[in-house]
Amino acid sequence: MRLLIFGRQGAGKGTQSALLAEHYGAVHISTGDVLRAAVANATPVGLEAKSYMDSGQLVPDEVMLGVVEERLAQPDIVEHGFLLDGFPRTVPQAEALLGITDVDVAVDLVVPEDVVLERISSRRVCSSCGRIYSVGMPPAEGWTCDTCGGEVVQRADDTPEAVAKRLAAYSSETEPTIRCFEDKGLLATVDGLGTPTEVQDRLVAAIDAAVAS
Ligand code: ADP
Ligand code: ZN
Repeated sequence: MRLLIFGRQGAGKGTQSALLAEHYGAVHISTGDVLRAAVANATPVGLEAKSYMDSGQLVPDEVMLGVVEERLAQPDIVEHGFLLDGFPRTVPQAEALLGITDVDVAVDLVVPEDVVLERISSRRVCSSCGRIYSVGMPPAEGWTCDTCGGEVVQRADDTPEAVAKRLAAYSSETEPTIRCFEDKGLLATVDGLGTPTEVQDRLVAAIDAAVAS
């Protein structure tokens, strides 16, 4: 399975992607997580990406293409397929991606802006494995990750200013990217409101229907 997932910041992409990757046996690649790991390890990509990320701007396409192309060439992806979360976000990224691989389905997880603003302000994330929590659904013991024991924190770019910039970039850059996949007949649109399980069931139904058609 070769899947893409689109959705505004706070739409639940990260949470749902982890579940979907498991369901379909595909490798979950979150470009945000890949970049945060690069920043934490101070790699050349991380050093270049950090200031863009912290201020809520998109990392330049050339940098992103290098990161994604390298990842997609690895043997686990060739064997199991992928679920790309956070890429492509611009039309040039979409064109470059389609130049290196086919895509089976792109899903758009739709949640209204007022709801995502509320979700982002309460979002917390494991600084080590990326697992997502919230103020209302914290880890079992303090702010320590249930999965890996890492520290659960608020993301550096979940400030109101950076969030506003990311939402603006989503409208100006990513909405037209989604239309590319719609024009190719590859898009499935899914309502992202409800419990994680409800949304998961809707996603699986929409993906299975799109793949079968
Ligand atoms: P969000 O969806 O909330 O913006 P992510 O974790 O997906 O969070 O991404 C965090 C940051 O990483 C983005 O604000 C951006 O700076 C950078 N980034 C991730 N994916 C891309 C991409 N495909 N193109 C450009 N920048 C990206
Ligand atoms: Zn963790």
